[in-house]
Amino acid sequence: MEDTMSLVKALKCRECEREYPLEPIYVCEFCFGPLEVAYDYDRIKKTMTREKIETRPQNLWRYRELLPIEGEPSDALYTGFTPLIKADNLARFIGIKELYIKDDSVSHPTLSFKDRVVAVALAKAREFKFNTVACASTGNLAHSVSAQGAKAGFKRFIFIPATLEYSKIIASLVYEPNLIAVDGNYDEVNRLCSEVANKYKWAFVNINIRPFYAEGSKTHGFEIIEQLGWRTPDNIVVPCASGSLMTKIWKSFKEMNIIGLIDGIKTKVFAAQATGCSPIITAIKKDIDVIKPVKPDTVAKSLAIGNPADGFYATQVVKESGGFGEDVSDTEIIECIKLLARTEGIFTETAGGVTLASAIKLKKQGYIKEDSSTVLCITGNGLKTQEALHGHTMQPYHIKPNLLSFEEALKKIEGTKG
Ligand SMILES: *Cc1c(COP(=O)(O)O)cnc(C)c1O
Ligand SMILES: [Zn+2]
Repeated sequence: MEDTMSLVKALKCRECEREYPLEPIYVCEFCFGPLEVAYDYDRIKKTMTREKIETRPQNLWRYRELLPIEGEPSDALYTGFTPLIKADNLARFIGIKELYIKDDSVSHPTLSFKDRVVAVALAKAREFKFNTVACASTGNLAHSVSAQGAKAGFKRFIFIPATLEYSKIIASLVYEPNLIAVDGNYDEVNRLCSEVANKYKWAFVNINIRPFYAEGSKTHGFEIIEQLGWRTPDNIVVPCASGSLMTKIWKSFKEMNIIGLIDGIKTKVFAAQATGCSPIITAIKKDIDVIKPVKPDTVAKSLAIGNPADGFYATQVVKESGGFGEDVSDTEIIECIKLLARTEGIFTETAGGVTLASAIKLKKQGYIKEDSSTVLCITGNGLKTQEALHGHTMQPYHIKPNLLSFEEALKKIEGTKG
C-alpha cells in the first residue's frame, strides 16, 4: 500500500492563492474565487514514474498521486482508461494527417466522461463521511451519480431540467435515485441547488465537492498523454459546458510536464460549443475576458450551460496555449454525429457532434494544420441522445418475409448506390 495522502497539500484559491484545509468547501472567503486542489509536486516527482503507472490496473486510479484521494481506491475500478483511437478514415475526410479520437463514449459505467469526475467526487464524499450525494445535471452527471452512487451505497438527490432527453431520464431512474425534474433550464437548476446545498448536509458533487470532483477530468488528459507514448498532441478539441473539462485537461498536461513525465507541451487547445449556447466561444472570438450569460437553445443539451462557472478560465487556457474556438449549428451537430458513425464506427451523443463539427471548421479556417497531430475529445455515447436523430437517419428497407421481396429491395439498394 502506498502513502499518497500527503501528496495533496491544500485547497487553494485560484485568484488570491490563499490556502484552505481539505474540506467540502469551494469558494474563497476573501475574494470569492474558486478553490482548487494543490499538490506537492516535488514529492510527486520523486515517486511517480512512467513505469510505475504502466504496471497499474487500467483505470483512472493509475494516476492516483495526482488525484485528491486518500488511501486505496475501492470503487470505480472499471472507470477510465478509455481507448485512444487512430481515426484514419475521418482523418482523410477532414484532411488532417494524424487524427485521434479519445473515446469516452465507452467510459464505464455510464458511457460518458462524467464517470471520471463522479468517481473522484464519491471517493471524496465517503472520506468526508457524507451519506447523501447530490448534483445539478445537464444529463450525463445525473446518469453517473445515479449509477455510481447506487454501487457505493449513497442516498442520491439528482436535480435536472425537466426538458432533458427522455433516454437520459430513464437511464438515471433505473438506479432509483430521488430524481427531481425542475421546471427551468440548467442555470436555474444550479442556482436552486446552491440554495439546497447551503441548507442540507449533502455532498453536491459539482457544488461543495467541486474542487475535488473537477480533478477527475484530468485523467482524460493523462490518458491521452500516456496513450500517445508520453507526449502531447499538437491540437486538442474539447467540448465545453461549464468549461471545467477543458481547464483540467490543460492542468493535466502542465502537471505531467512539471513532474517530468513529458518533455514540454506543444498543444493548442480549442474549445467547441453549440451556437445555441456558446458564451465561451463568444468571449474567445471577441477576445474578451468577461463571459456574458446566454439562454441555451440547442440540441446539445449536455453542453447547455448558459452561465459557465469555469468560462473565464477556459478562455485563459485557449489564450495561453495559442488555440481558438468554434461554435456550430444543430444541423452541423447532427451531420457530424453521422459522419463519425460512418467513418469510424463510433456513435457519439450531441456533444461529440459539437466537437467534430467545430474541429472541421477550425481545420477549414487554418487554425488546425493538415500536417499536425490532433485529438478530438468524444465525451458521451449516442445511445443516450437518440431523439436528436429522429427524422435525420436513413430508413430501413421494409420487406415481406420472402426472397422475392428481399431481391426487390436489393435492386433498390444497388440502384441508389449507382
Ligand atoms: C458535462 C459534459 C461536457 C463538458 O463539461 P464541462 O462542464 O465543460 O466540464 C462535455 N461532454 C459531455 C458529454 C458532458 O456530459
Ligand atoms: Zn481568494
